Amino acid sequence: MARYGPNEHDVLIVGGGGAGLRAAIAVAETDADLDVAVVSKVYPMRSHTVAAEGGAAAVIKENDSLDEHAYDTISGGDWLCDQDAVEAFVHEAPEEMLRLEHWGCPWSREEDGSVAVRSFGGMTNKRTWFAADKTGFHMLHTMFQTTLKYDPIQRYDEYFVTRLLVDDGRCQGVAAIELATGKVEVIAARSVILCTGGCGRVFPFTTNGNIKSGDGMALAYRAGVPLKDMEFVQYHPTGLPFTGLLITEAARAEGGYLLNKDGYRYLQDYDLGEPTEKPVHRSMELGPRDRLSQAFEKEDQKGRTIEGPYGSYVHLDIQHLGEEVITKKLPFVRELCLKYENIDPIRELIPVRPVVHYMMGGIHTDINGATPLEGLFAAGEAACVSINGANRLGSNSLTELLVFGGRAGRAAAEYASQKKEFSSALPALQTDESNRIEENFFTDKGGNPDTVSSIREEMHKTMEDGAGIYRSEASLKESEAVINDLQERLQKLSIQDQSYTFNTELVLAHELSYMLDVAETIIQSALQRTESRGSHQRTDHPDRDDENFLTHSLAYKADRGSPRIEYKPVTITRWPPGERVYGS
Ligand SMILES: Cc1cc2nc3c(=O)[nH]c(=O)nc-3n(C[C@H](O)[C@H](O)[C@H](O)COP(=O)(O)OP(=O)(O)OC[C@H]3O[C@@H](n4cnc5c(N)ncnc54)[C@H](O)[C@@H]3O)c2cc1C
Repeated sequence: MARYGPNEHDVLIVGGGGAGLRAAIAVAETDADLDVAVVSKVYPMRSHTVAAEGGAAAVIKENDSLDEHAYDTISGGDWLCDQDAVEAFVHEAPEEMLRLEHWGCPWSREEDGSVAVRSFGGMTNKRTWFAADKTGFHMLHTMFQTTLKYDPIQRYDEYFVTRLLVDDGRCQGVAAIELATGKVEVIAARSVILCTGGCGRVFPFTTNGNIKSGDGMALAYRAGVPLKDMEFVQYHPTGLPFTGLLITEAARAEGGYLLNKDGYRYLQDYDLGEPTEKPVHRSMELGPRDRLSQAFEKEDQKGRTIEGPYGSYVHLDIQHLGEEVITKKLPFVRELCLKYENIDPIRELIPVRPVVHYMMGGIHTDINGATPLEGLFAAGEAACVSINGANRLGSNSLTELLVFGGRAGRAAAEYASQKKEFSSALPALQTDESNRIEENFFTDKGGNPDTVSSIREEMHKTMEDGAGIYRSEASLKESEAVINDLQERLQKLSIQDQSYTFNTELVLAHELSYMLDVAETIIQSALQRTESRGSHQRTDHPDRDDENFLTHSLAYKADRGSPRIEYKPVTITRWPPGERVYGS
């Protein structure tokens, strides 16, 4: 058997966020003899999961039910969710959340000591567990600490993966740059799980951290694995205008209002229902995110938003909640407003606008995280199982990391236990990858005015203009042409920084190449879906078309130009497609 010394593992997880760490623990718990490693481009606690604020959904209270959680998720997703996956999700969610409690996660409590839950957009009952408004921080800390107690879990912190190593039709590891030295290493593994998170940075205004550039999605796509439902991009209705920093939905769940430039609660004019006492979560500000973001666009068209240096915005008002509620339940919201906008939400209005928040689409997997490529699995935001359909409900994602991170970990462990031999071609693949990086980025191609940032800026503009909240055939075609052109220009780009130690320009150039790949799948999937559903709104095809599009799109990389799109029917178990009704 070929051996690759210390860099050889049974299971390799790319990503140290919530999905990656949950998967690592699942592998260690499935078989203590398996050697498992986590590779991450940043120290795991810096993964985007740490930024999650509002909470994680799971049925826990007596007045709630698994079927209601399933139905909310499916109708919120505009019937594009696979219902078998949703049923597994809601069923396993409470157990996963309790397990996290046993590992030490400090869930906020009710007065009587039971786990506290809050309302969240599109959820019929209160079922969102939270740890103040720093839920992701506490969840990630808890899982990180738990990984430390398992000796077989090793880590490659600050290694940047640039390629999946595929031979004999199997994924057998990755090539990664050790950022401290610039060395390209092979990390061989019998199974690989991609937990690389989302790709919000494809768009200019986003809540997503800089590191969310769709790396794993692009790596899988390049290896022939399709990306599923990429046209579904979630805008969050309340980001701060310049930084895109998220003002969590919890601010509205606690009772915050959205006001237009006249101080009017404009959501009452849209298909979100009248303000009602009960059920409070289905009305107005707690309608689903896609509808709220679309309502903003309509207000903007009517000239009823406020013009600012970073585009138009409206106001979020939480003053009436009072100092005690704000400091106790929304301390992070206040901190962000004070630090980044120099305003105190106890006394002032918060400026907000829709910003890209989450990708419903991702690497095509089955219900256990397996992709069509043998040995390759995916979980978390990078994957599309799919439980989020055309629009994810807030607070389902953190729970998804646990349920499907765990499932992918167990499936990858089982696959790795077959102990298939490594191919003898891996060293040659490593040499190939080193040469590719050297030639693509370090060789001066002469006279090219482009830089990473100039290409990125053009990508941002065309994605926002052509593939944003509202799209049309004309706008998408224009963006398609721009992205194809940028792909060609990227080939001619060389980087200025020639050093091998922490070469951030090299990382940014790779991330840009990943984002352009992801962008082309978003555009092409959106172009070919000639209907409107959830977050995908076509001005030239305003209605949902179940006859032709109750299907997942699958984007395959083509040899040249735009991807090839195929379709796969949605799995319906118990809930036939209906209308999405809110506010009743
Ligand atoms: C501000 C904010 C608030 C949110 N709040 C909530 C909430 O309240 N409730 C909820 O349910 N959801 C929330 N979400 C969504 C949710 O937090 C994310 O979908 C989820 O945390 C993603 O977790 P993940 O493990 O899939 O990926 P991430 O946490 O993004 O981790 C990705 C990992 O992959 C690694 N990686 C990526 N590329 C490479 C590469 N090339 N080489 C090596 N390593 C790589 C990174 O280093 C990182 O460790 C929020 C999201 C944001 C942005």
